[in-house]
Amino acid sequence: MHWICSTCGTQQEDTPQPPRRCPICDDSRQYVGWEGQHWTTLDGLRTRHRNAIREEEPGVWSIVTEPTFGIGQRAFLVRTSEGNILWDCISLLDDGTVRAVRDLGGIDVMAISHPHYYSSMIEWSEAFGGVPIWIHEAEREWVRRRSDAVRFWTGDTHGLPGGATLIRGGGTSTDTRRCTTQASFSPATSRRWPWTAAGRVSYTATRTWCRWEPRR
Ligand SMILES: [Zn+2]
Repeated sequence: MHWICSTCGTQQEDTPQPPRRCPICDDSRQYVGWEGQHWTTLDGLRTRHRNAIREEEPGVWSIVTEPTFGIGQRAFLVRTSEGNILWDCISLLDDGTVRAVRDLGGIDVMAISHPHYYSSMIEWSEAFGGVPIWIHEAEREWVRRRSDAVRFWTGDTHGLPGGATLIRGGGTSTDTRRCTTQASFSPATSRRWPWTAAGRVSYTATRTWCRWEPRR
């Protein structure tokens, strides 16, 4: 069973029984729930939650689980001229979501800003043909479920289809080993987003919803 931490939403390696601890919740940037460590499963999530998909701007859709699960993570599907990118990820994936995302062109590549968004990323990749999931090498230790789909990139930037670029760090961190990845999407992605695709998407993902923000 791939158990999912109820507090942070991270799916774990296959074990018969739930793990004793969730390393992500044990980290100082997250917290263990008041009532201790609790686990759920993807099937459990599917019985009580649904995903809402909304077009935020032309070419960009947000995917959010309702009612809120984990820390209220949100993923973004970004359509580019060279394929669709799933920026960040969420824990719930169900048939309705797969159908809706396929109707929008599916997913060609995934990229994750930081460990709070690892969620059920392997499930998402597999549902769309085993698409690659790009994660910075510095955050390798936090990946809780191994897969050949996970690709680690190094250095300060990494190119994605459609002119999108992953950028290491937010420029404000004093702890670069732990800082997040941001994404910059080309102006060609959406003419109404000369730069805000990067600013808005990464800002929303890493600052508003998350405690894993870079340390100042
Ligand atoms: Zn956790």
